[in-house]
Amino acid sequence: MRLLLVEDDTMIGETVLDMLRADHYAVDWVRDGEMADTALRTQTYDLVLLDLGLPRLDGLDVLRSLRARRVLTPVLIATARDSVQQRIAGLDAGADDYVLKPYDLDELLARIRALLRRASGRAEPVYEHKGVSINPATREVMVDGQPVVLSAREWSVLEPLLARPGMVLSRAQLEEKLYSWKDEISSDAVEVYIHGLRKKLGPELILNVRGVGYMVPKS
Ligand code: CA
Repeated sequence: MRLLLVEDDTMIGETVLDMLRADHYAVDWVRDGEMADTALRTQTYDLVLLDLGLPRLDGLDVLRSLRARRVLTPVLIATARDSVQQRIAGLDAGADDYVLKPYDLDELLARIRALLRRASGRAEPVYEHKGVSINPATREVMVDGQPVVLSAREWSVLEPLLARPGMVLSRAQLEEKLYSWKDEISSDAVEVYIHGLRKKLGPELILNVRGVGYMVPKS
């Protein structure tokens, strides 16, 4: 899953960035509102963590502009503990949830997981399909009740496919979820991870849809 982190405070930004990357998210970090606006016009994200007090363009304006373009990407706003008005303004401008600063990092991760779950049309916290189950909170993967160890990249490919059985994701869409701006992308990476997943989870879980991409079939 690929996230956009919008945060102008260097220390907070670095802390959150490290934590999100350690939790296997691909993250792009921008430090002002104009950069955030540009990133959101040029790249597709699974979620935005948006600080509201930003240089150059206010976070609320970034959010209003995103929603005016009818982009559905989940937005989690970060606001100060004492500013109820700001939280209300953010939610009414199209944010999906808020998190208070200073962050409780475990709570932040849980709110991100909850929004990603809702965005994929699910309410249940563990994804189960055809004998394979994954738990985004613990990163546990089970096949027929037996634990299986996946690499971080394999996880990043499997999660969006298993979250929405029947939906085809192109190689480019999967690459977007795997890499942030700073990463080098090798052209056959997605194929390599799919190959690894098939070896670990069985050959029939992920189908190759010729010329289009990959999917986990519904039944
Ligand atoms: Ca700020």
